[in-house]
Amino acid sequence: MRERFFCHCESCRRCAGASPVPWVTVATSAFTVLRGEISWFASSPEVRRGFCAGCGTPLAYLHASTPREMDVVTLSFDDPGPLAPQYHLWVGDQLPWIVIADALPRYAATREQAQPR
Ligand SMILES: [Zn+2]
Repeated sequence: MRERFFCHCESCRRCAGASPVPWVTVATSAFTVLRGEISWFASSPEVRRGFCAGCGTPLAYLHASTPREMDVVTLSFDDPGPLAPQYHLWVGDQLPWIVIADALPRYAATREQAQPR
């Protein structure tokens, strides 16, 4: 696992029906579906999002520019307790009534696009 973060972006909010959405970045080659099936849809031209075909739980995010890695929804893991996020992304999209009560670094968009807030 490479990164763990909260995403406040509008796309994640709409796709998950919640905000912020905690994610874990993993190597695509290390990801295996053990049971059930993932359904995929394009949430934007470069992004595919996966959800459980059986229950609808949001599960995964794939971006065309980074095919070797993918993001998996932290709360879909059997034991998400040890997978605490390390920072917040897209706080520029943060809803005004969401209060961040931790001291983790916050980025207006991606870590590459902006300095911490
Ligand atoms: Zn997002």
